[in-house]
Amino acid sequence: MLDATFFVCIYKGYSLFSSPSKTIFVAGSVAEKKNVVVIGGGVAGSLVAKSLQNEAAVFLIVEKEYFEITWASLRSMVEPEFAKRSVISHSEYLPHAKIVISAAVNIADTDVFTTQGSRIRYDCLVVATGRTKNSAWTKTEKISQYQTDYEKIKSAKSILIVGGGPTGVELAAEIAVDFPDKKVTWCTVSMYSIYHKIDQ
Ligand SMILES: Cc1cc2nc3c(=O)[nH]c(=O)nc-3n(C[C@H](O)[C@H](O)[C@H](O)COP(=O)(O)OP(=O)(O)OC[C@H]3O[C@@H](n4cnc5c(N)ncnc54)[C@H](O)[C@@H]3O)c2cc1C
Repeated sequence: MLDATFFVCIYKGYSLFSSPSKTIFVAGSVAEKKNVVVIGGGVAGSLVAKSLQNEAAVFLIVEKEYFEITWASLRSMVEPEFAKRSVISHSEYLPHAKIVISAAVNIADTDVFTTQGSRIRYDCLVVATGRTKNSAWTKTEKISQYQTDYEKIKSAKSILIVGGGPTGVELAAEIAVDFPDKKVTWCTVSMYSIYHKIDQ
């Protein structure tokens, strides 16, 4: 099925610098299977890895140990128990893939190099590194980040939300639902953007 080497490049701003290293991953036990290396564990990368894990020798290179359901992140800020369900270890849904928790720093013709010194050979490479940076590297840190957000919202007498895009609107609604007595002020340059989206 995966005969040709190909690239799927969804990335912007990727850094290509590092020196070769000692650790080399190859698909030893499944010699007939192609090595598919996926960089990035967001929606795109995780879905590719999950879909191909039984068809190929899949290696998922990720900076973070967990997959985050981003569209659940605003509710996660007001409901800590919900937050725990929105952060999933990659190992939970990828029993047949090799997960490498380390940032990819260099891509050569046949190998990817990571910050921790791994070198992973690929037949097929998928670059799905998105465009955002996140400072919570472990699942525990991410859940703790949501807990901190929750405590801040819970203890605040009033909340100012700046920005009238979907994120600002959704967060204002989540706070209003769970904390109906809290004063939420929503600040936006114009109502046009939200009305325009509702119209569509
Ligand atoms: C609050 C919020 C709500 C949203 N709601 C919706 C919605 O309702 N519907 C919708 O369709 N979209 C929604 N989105 C947008 C959606 O989350 C993004 O479009 C989607 O996450 C993009 O997925 P991705 O896999 O391309 O990139 P990302 O999610 O950005 O994932 C990229 C991954 O690559 C990793 N990475 C980056 N560089 C490296 C490297 N060098 N080595 C290893 N790993 C690396 C990152 O750590 C990250 O895990 C929402 C986003 C937010 C923030």
